[in-house]
Amino acid sequence: MFYLGCHLSSSGGYLAMGETAVSIKANTFQYFTRNPRGGSARALDLDDIASFNAYATEHTFGTIVAHAPYTLNLCSAKPEVREFARNTMRDDLERLQHVDNVVYNFHPGSHVGQGVDLGIEMIIDAINAVLTEEIKTPILLETMAGKGSEIGRSFEELARIIDGVILKDKIGVCMDSCHMHDAGYDVVNDLDGVLDEFDRLVGLDRVKAFHLNDSMNPFASGKDRHAKIGEGTLGLDAIVRIVNHPKLRALPFNLETPNELDGYAREIDLLRKRRTTA
Ligand code: FE
Ligand code: FE
Ligand code: ZN
Repeated sequence: MFYLGCHLSSSGGYLAMGETAVSIKANTFQYFTRNPRGGSARALDLDDIASFNAYATEHTFGTIVAHAPYTLNLCSAKPEVREFARNTMRDDLERLQHVDNVVYNFHPGSHVGQGVDLGIEMIIDAINAVLTEEIKTPILLETMAGKGSEIGRSFEELARIIDGVILKDKIGVCMDSCHMHDAGYDVVNDLDGVLDEFDRLVGLDRVKAFHLNDSMNPFASGKDRHAKIGEGTLGLDAIVRIVNHPKLRALPFNLETPNELDGYAREIDLLRKRRTTA
């Protein structure tokens, strides 16, 4: 099964996202758990979630991705910002207990000049404080482009974070093709080499989701601007190789390209046509 979807607005609730996904031939999707730049989440509607869970089963959805807000920074220099991030994660994970077949993706954090070592230590402490045995939703560290002082640009940094997490069966990674390329991993000319390196340092079994984006910036630019599929420095063929790669093809793929719904529908159609049979 090719699990392919895109980022959707959560303003209409879960069932509405499921129906929107089906209307554009998607069978997974991603959404923000709350305003990406703000704090508060919508009221929890358990009926809506139950309807969605049934709908997702009926329409054979793959794993969906709940994305934490961008403002969340587990390694801020300000204690109140770190505390806010932990509380937001706890609240998100508590809500996600009701949602079936979902993963929780977040940006590891920006060390804002405190240094990578202290940043990683803060991220590990926060994850260990937030993750409990009761939490059923895996949490995923996103591979980052390395803009500013972002942690998670290198696979080594992700490996160090995972190494410090106590409940290891609950932590994974979400790869982002734009971010890896901008970070200096050559997913265009050496996808196999990149995956081998990831496997050696982190383990490919940790990858639970994939963000499919082209990039507006050159290789290893350390920037992070997504381009539409085939309109950036990765190009369509590189992205087609990603979705067909034997070590990646079972993952849920979500587009985060600069598109409205009609643009996403076109990209989903394009990539479904280029998907090979296993
Ligand atoms: Fe992200
Ligand atoms: Fe992403
Ligand atoms: Zn990005």
